[in-house]
Amino acid sequence: MAVPLLDLKAQYQNIKDEIDEAVQRVFTSQGFILGPEVEACEQALAAYCGSPHAIGVSSGSDALLMCLMAEGIGPGDEVITSPYTFFATGGAIWRVGAKPVFVDICPSSYNLCPQKIESAITAATRAIIPVHLYGQLAEMEAIMALARDHELLVIEDAAQAIGAEHQGTRAGSIGDYGCFSFFPSKNLGGAGDGGLITTGNADRAERLRRLRNHGMHPKYYHSDVGGNFRLDAIQAAVVSVKLKHLDTWTEQRQANAVRYRALFASAGLPPDAIALPEVTVDRHVFNQFVVRAQHRDALRQHLLNHQVGCEIYYPVPLHLQDCFASLGYTEGAMPESERAARETLALPIFPELTDDQAKEVVQAIATFYADKQQA
Ligand SMILES: *Cc1c(COP(=O)(O)O)cnc(C)c1O
Repeated sequence: MAVPLLDLKAQYQNIKDEIDEAVQRVFTSQGFILGPEVEACEQALAAYCGSPHAIGVSSGSDALLMCLMAEGIGPGDEVITSPYTFFATGGAIWRVGAKPVFVDICPSSYNLCPQKIESAITAATRAIIPVHLYGQLAEMEAIMALARDHELLVIEDAAQAIGAEHQGTRAGSIGDYGCFSFFPSKNLGGAGDGGLITTGNADRAERLRRLRNHGMHPKYYHSDVGGNFRLDAIQAAVVSVKLKHLDTWTEQRQANAVRYRALFASAGLPPDAIALPEVTVDRHVFNQFVVRAQHRDALRQHLLNHQVGCEIYYPVPLHLQDCFASLGYTEGAMPESERAARETLALPIFPELTDDQAKEVVQAIATFYADKQQA
């Protein structure tokens, strides 16, 4: 039996009528740009994230970029972030002309390590971008305290963490801005690209609404230079339908994680072969279920040979990417991020994963280590 890493066809089959109806409604209206679909989606998501304002935008990457633009962050400024993330986090900092300053992760959560942030703060530091990787919040209490002490902005990269929660607060409602992505593989995926920014500040929300539309207000008058960062009505309509199912899907992801723990516990693996993810927050939404694995690359090949989907998020930390070579980081600079890049492997955790599929995944891993022990 083949087990995909993610099965969006199964998801669509379960909600096909609702999605088709919503898409049809947009076509009937022929209102494709912003408008009531986007407004309704923004209101529902602001409530879901526990944030007063939500602005629909063109992607999670653009969401990050826009927050930096909105704050006038640029050449001469430094922005602290994690090197162990999707490229967009660092790319946004670079694109506005600011300097990404990388701080290593905690090995338990894979998130920015607050204890290592302070020594990276300089007079040029303007903001911190914590990433809520794989679906659980970074240590926001400590990060917010540092930001307050040093008067820094906090932009949450919550692209993988919609609905993630700790001590009663949700991803995107803690920092000055929260950035979300509707890339199809995220927990709340659209039918293409899309994103969202949350903020608690009405002036910031207003500025972002102008920025996403070329800084235009009123029509054909431009006080700022923005861009075309708008969310399509069709994406908003699809996301609004899926939002109603998100809590159920999240519970299914969490149940899959519990099932994996039971299956791994009884799989008879050699000790230390696989380390399961640690849950460090109250509500982990499991965008990914990431294990550390001995002989990771060989295991990955074995799983792919057995048609078990898996992926490495991420094989090269940002501080070692070629495009950032001029920042001067060398190997060894961020040991935990580099170790994570060597050891981690994401296994299928999508909501529709069946019992048999989960067993297949663990069985395939067990045979790999059994073969290894015999060899
Ligand atoms: C997906 C992702 C992004 C970018 O979102 P897009 O919508 O694909 O542009 C940014 N940061 C993280 C951590 C992500 O996982």
